[in-house]
Amino acid sequence: MAQEKKDNKTEALLRILEEAGKRNTAQRYEICKAIAEYPGHPTVADLYDTVRARFPMISQATVYNTVDTLRELGAITRLEIANHDHTHYDTDVHPHVNIVCRYCERIQDLHTDLVHTLIDEASRTSGFDIRPEAGLILYGICPDCKKNSTETEE
Ligand SMILES: [Zn+2]
Ligand SMILES: [Zn+2]
Repeated sequence: MAQEKKDNKTEALLRILEEAGKRNTAQRYEICKAIAEYPGHPTVADLYDTVRARFPMISQATVYNTVDTLRELGAITRLEIANHDHTHYDTDVHPHVNIVCRYCERIQDLHTDLVHTLIDEASRTSGFDIRPEAGLILYGICPDCKKNSTETEE
């Protein structure tokens, strides 16, 4: 991602917080920046580690509160992955498929219009209220783990 795009994303997150009445503080700026620049699907602990490099005195609760506020406001989504000890957050709220490796827990995104089609059809036929921004989660074995497991089998 280009630096300019990351800056815009940081600004966008701050604006959402400000509109919800949360003052723009240096700490909040740093938390939003960490979210905007984190590659992939961070946990609160991942973001805390990033922000702590700039603000050693910050508490994990402060990071959590900002993350949770952004989630409530729909700026990020919570990604509930089976068997993962910690909750991951997805900074990409466009409906997409999250492909999760069962072994190394790596998460890879797939963007496809089929997600909309599938979610529409699933809500229509089941009558369930499905939030498309939550996307889909598919589980599998990533190429690296697949390679490692065949190497040990031989
Ligand atoms: Zn994702
Ligand atoms: Zn893997």
